[in-house]
Amino acid sequence: MQQVYLDNAATSRMRKEAFDAMLPYFMDEYANPSSIHAMSREPRAAVKKARAQIAGCLNADPSEIFFTSGGTESDNWALVSGAEMREKKGRHIIVSAIEHHAILETARYLERRGFEVTRVGVDGDGIVKLDELEKAIRPDTTLVSVMAANNEIGTIQPIEEISKILKGKDILFHTDAVQAFGHIPLDVKALGVDMLSASGHKFGGPKGVGFLYVRKGVKLVPFMHGGEQEEGRRAGTTNVPGIVGMGVAAEIACSGLEASMARTAELRDHLIERVLSEIPYSRLNGHRTSRLPSNADFSFEFIEGESMLMSLGTKGVCVSTGSACASGSLDPSHVLLGIGLPHEIAHGSIRMSIPEDATMEQIDYAADCLKQTVETMRSLSPLYDDFVKSRKVRGCTTENTATR
Ligand SMILES: *Cc1c(COP(=O)(O)O)cnc(C)c1O
Repeated sequence: MQQVYLDNAATSRMRKEAFDAMLPYFMDEYANPSSIHAMSREPRAAVKKARAQIAGCLNADPSEIFFTSGGTESDNWALVSGAEMREKKGRHIIVSAIEHHAILETARYLERRGFEVTRVGVDGDGIVKLDELEKAIRPDTTLVSVMAANNEIGTIQPIEEISKILKGKDILFHTDAVQAFGHIPLDVKALGVDMLSASGHKFGGPKGVGFLYVRKGVKLVPFMHGGEQEEGRRAGTTNVPGIVGMGVAAEIACSGLEASMARTAELRDHLIERVLSEIPYSRLNGHRTSRLPSNADFSFEFIEGESMLMSLGTKGVCVSTGSACASGSLDPSHVLLGIGLPHEIAHGSIRMSIPEDATMEQIDYAADCLKQTVETMRSLSPLYDDFVKSRKVRGCTTENTATR
């Protein structure tokens, strides 16, 4: 049986070049880059190179890149330290309602510590309501965090427009770009953000390493206390192999961005086209065009997402219901509820995220399996049977709710 991996938003396979580049730093060049002796020189140079590779992807200065243990740490750091740094000005922060849990749970933690949080809603496509965001700004607002691209429905947010709204207001602007970095072009100067989070394993680098971009001039208290690593802002012995692997993965991802975007978008569009035209009562979630090239997220009426995931699994097709962190819980995804889906439809949703080396044959196989699965499951559903009968009586056709 073939395996088709369509869960690239949960984690990606490492690039061979990144893996190879890491190897020397485990056994040969294992010295601590913070040491003074001769052996520390090579690992120090390697970390410096990775910092430049990542900065180059973002139009940032290498001194603005701070290595962390991943996206979660970068998000926690940006929010907690950003809010604490500016406590004298105020204790109000704004996030979008469809952020990753790394942001939403950190915001909840800040609330328990006496901060106030406004969660700004999104429209039916998952785009943050800019007028709502503007109205939420108060004199005591110190920080706004809106993700660059959503991990479940793939919607890309109008980050530049948000930074225009915030301009001149002395409010820190952070973006969680974990799904965006290495997948769509990002230029921190054009975006106008003060801080940006990313994670190695989401773009062909290793797990357990990431970074936070902090614009020059933005003061941010350390989140990890200890040594003087990362200019004294992020303590902890430098993860040299991880950083080297992430740097190489970033450089390759960014230099081949146009080609890989075109390739995955073609696969994605083929999948979307097939699903919406061949499976009745199906719906594409997220914005049709302002969307990650690799993301296709669907809802199917009269279907339970978890059972669909299991059934696809027996056919070798690996997909996800919402975010991996939310799987296993029975609550429907906050993102799908956020775009206004009723509970029962949100429950029948799956996310397919396409690696850039997937083939058209794999996509067709996945679409065939999906169609088969939905048909089988619906054939067993008395609800679906009644529904179809009642539609026939009324003379309706099988129309997709996504058509607009
Ligand atoms: C995966 C992800 C994170 C968490 O990153 P880790 O490196 O796995 O901790 C944060 N935000 C978004 C949008 C993500 O997709």
